[in-house]
Amino acid sequence: LLRASGIRKSFGDREVLAGVDLSLAAHEVVALIGASGSGKSTLLRCLGLLEPIDDGQIFLGDEDISDPRVDGNRVRARLGAVFQSFNLFPHLSVLDNVTLASRVVHRMPRSQAEARAVELLARVGLADKAKEHPDRLSGGQQQRVAIARAIATDPEVLLLDEITSALDPELVGEVLELVRDLAAEGATILMATHEMAFARDVADRVVFLDAGTIVEQGPPSAVLRHPREERTRAFLARFT
Ligand code: ATP
Ligand code: MG
Repeated sequence: LLRASGIRKSFGDREVLAGVDLSLAAHEVVALIGASGSGKSTLLRCLGLLEPIDDGQIFLGDEDISDPRVDGNRVRARLGAVFQSFNLFPHLSVLDNVTLASRVVHRMPRSQAEARAVELLARVGLADKAKEHPDRLSGGQQQRVAIARAIATDPEVLLLDEITSALDPELVGEVLELVRDLAAEGATILMATHEMAFARDVADRVVFLDAGTIVEQGPPSAVLRHPREERTRAFLARFT
């Protein structure tokens, strides 16, 4: 469904992605792990067309979305992205945050967008918060709104970047539970995470990135428990 090959990206003279090949099958859940600075966020941003790439190709379905002639807004509308900092619009209600893309990008009538948003808010356990502004919600609730917003447009792929790392520990579970449900329902997810237990339980595949290259990947049981590469072992040793 999503297929990237030879992705290179530098900031100044620092090469952050040094030729990354990564594919996601439909309904696959892939956990992207790696040390701080290894390039996880940059890779997600490049795949989501939020950052231009220097070299390589990205296919979404059979469309080459890295072709400079593609309409980035149209492609971004087919993807759902959620980041560490929730990035909700502070001046909009929860309901308006969730409906904005449907109304503006997908030109859905307000009534239809709102009906769908009410369903989604119920789904993420926030039916009673539709009228609130984001600053009245806890971090976990804000992040669940951000997820509701990301899935409101039925994205083909969800790109999740450390969506629990800004949360207080007691709020992490509610957000991961939601991702687990989305995965069980067949969403296609690429998720950068430091939650190794979650990667082990939910991901179909774990990809270990180090210094901008994929060093090792495979089923969680293999990569997390029996890593083949020394660099993977050294990284995982920090979590035990
Ligand atoms: P973390 O686990 O801390 O989130 P990460 O794996 O997501 O780390 P990235 O955010 O992708 O790492 O950053 C990789 C490298 O690229 C870092 O050295 C970072 O300083 C650099 N970098 C990222 N974005 C930019 C930017 N916009 N301009 C310059 N350098 C950047
Ligand atoms: Mg990051």
